[in-house]
Amino acid sequence: MTAKTSRMRAIRLVAPGKPLEASDIAVPGPAAGEVLIRVRAAGICHSDAHYRAGRSSTGPLPLTLGHEIAGTIEECGPGVTPLKEGDRVCVHYLVTCGNCSWCHQGNEQFCARAQMLGKHRDGGYAEFINVPARSLFGLPDEIPFEQGAIMMCSTATSLHALNKARMKPGDRVAVFGIGGLGLSAIQLARALGATEVYAVDIKPSKLDLARNLGATPINAASGDPVEQIRQRTSGRGADVALELVGLSVTMRQAVHCLAIKGRAALVGITDAGFSVAPYHELINKEAEIIGVSDHLAQELPLLLEWCRQGKLDFSHVITRSVALDAKIVNAVLDDLEGFGDEGRVVIVP
Ligand SMILES: [Zn+2]
Ligand SMILES: [Zn+2]
Repeated sequence: MTAKTSRMRAIRLVAPGKPLEASDIAVPGPAAGEVLIRVRAAGICHSDAHYRAGRSSTGPLPLTLGHEIAGTIEECGPGVTPLKEGDRVCVHYLVTCGNCSWCHQGNEQFCARAQMLGKHRDGGYAEFINVPARSLFGLPDEIPFEQGAIMMCSTATSLHALNKARMKPGDRVAVFGIGGLGLSAIQLARALGATEVYAVDIKPSKLDLARNLGATPINAASGDPVEQIRQRTSGRGADVALELVGLSVTMRQAVHCLAIKGRAALVGITDAGFSVAPYHELINKEAEIIGVSDHLAQELPLLLEWCRQGKLDFSHVITRSVALDAKIVNAVLDDLEGFGDEGRVVIVP
């Protein structure tokens, strides 16, 4: 029996605030331009906990969650020629119209018709998923499916932040917040030629991880991190600062620690304000504050190539893989709600 005519298991959000439920649903047949993917790995992300809780809006329910997806091509829809069954792929999570001015500019995150997998349309907590062929990127044999999956989210956003901040070789980079984004950002900044990466956090375990990746740990619990960065740069400050936490205090620090012509890229999400002294902190230094939203499909091939070459390594970030089992996945999401210390968990159907 082909996948097209069969049923599959999926873990779905049925009602906000309720545990995800195991479902038996029809395997979707790929329409023109679409490809049916057999899911080999699906990352469980903190935003999935927000969708389950109802804190972030989603498309119509029931909905299969999961936006960090890697797998193999099962079946191609009409008009899809360059791909063949069995090819290893990972999936860009934003499905866009491909025709509007934003899509044409390569800024598809602003496409008014964009739909995110596992948020607006069915995602990867399932045996199969249907996606447009242009959402697929070849996954080299050297990269395990689990790593390919998790690179599609936080790692890609960290690279976008460094690109938006125009990071260049020789820059000194300060990273505020050493979670999934921060651990990726440290490795990416080093791969892009940063002379020094300062990793700012308050948890010793996270600072240890940062040190192991070659960053200089800055413990914000034991003194003003801005002062510590200034001391270590002979008063100069950071050329690039990434704010990955989403707090006013760290946004303020990211701007405050900048060197002349420094760029602060804000990634963490908040609407709480923070104060800036325009003359001393921006005008007189020609410093910049830059907003960062999501990432771009065109940034994914470089990430995959660096991972293939070993410049990026996420094996230590993934702490375990679990079955496509609603009870287990709900327990992982419960743990994420409590900001548990576990790294990334990946579903392997
Ligand atoms: Zn994610
Ligand atoms: Zn568009």
